[in-house]
Amino acid sequence: MFKKLLALLGLSFTTLAMAADTFNPWESVLRPSVGALQIFGNYNAGCVQGAAAPKETGIGYQFVKLSRNKFWGHSSAHQFVERLGQTLRPQGMSLFIADISMPRGGPFTWDHASHQVGLDIDIEYLQDSRSLQRPLTVAEREILPKYYLADEEANDIIRENWDEKYVTMLRTAAEDSNVLMMFVHPAIKRKICGNPANRKKWLAKVQPWWGHNEHFHVRLKCPAGQPYCQSKPEPTDIGCDSEEFLWWFSDEWRQIFEERKKWQKDNPNPQPDPLPALPAQCQGVLKDEESL
Ligand SMILES: [Zn+2]
Repeated sequence: MFKKLLALLGLSFTTLAMAADTFNPWESVLRPSVGALQIFGNYNAGCVQGAAAPKETGIGYQFVKLSRNKFWGHSSAHQFVERLGQTLRPQGMSLFIADISMPRGGPFTWDHASHQVGLDIDIEYLQDSRSLQRPLTVAEREILPKYYLADEEANDIIRENWDEKYVTMLRTAAEDSNVLMMFVHPAIKRKICGNPANRKKWLAKVQPWWGHNEHFHVRLKCPAGQPYCQSKPEPTDIGCDSEEFLWWFSDEWRQIFEERKKWQKDNPNPQPDPLPALPAQCQGVLKDEESL
């Protein structure tokens, strides 16, 4: 736990010590690179060659905020979204899919620490009855509101927004064998843990993390045939009673939460963190100008 504390506080101090040059070349490319679909590196330091665009709407899902150009990914990510939509649609749900990766993956300046190899997918909790009748227009999908299941300040669920269908949504995603792990607000995991019937193997994949109160984050395993993709171990501890999970509701957590808030108030225009060191192959992916 001490390591987690250091990592969080460290973020503030390294941000202060940043160099002035904040140009991020990964954010200036608009198209994927040519070449076979290939992942290099890991979720937090990597890139993707030959990334694909998804079918932007399908049964039970629609990609939102297409203007962000962050829907690129490995085909397994798009196939996962299609499977999840098809399973949830007959249960009266339709998903809004937000960011996967930039056209060549790589690090973001601000938005995400991961999402670098086309295997991390953000899915909104928002449900919109219109989308059960018809796909929303591209313009409508640009201006959708956020729907919060948890209040960060209270560190608790928003009871009037909660619905058991969110357990179905998260369980269905977690039970997909391609899913490595998922991230949700800790209060959402605590709510799910509160029902003993939910304490099954799938819940081990549902990990607590900061934010994630209006969307959940799905991380896929490295797909077959991707020798340069670096995965992580799959979580196996359901974790509802673990010391690590209970930390999220401790006095120490509250202290860090307040320090983060104060730091953000005192530093309204922080410098971004340095870009991570990427595998050497990513230079080739970035520099492929044929497809620019
Ligand atoms: Zn995410």
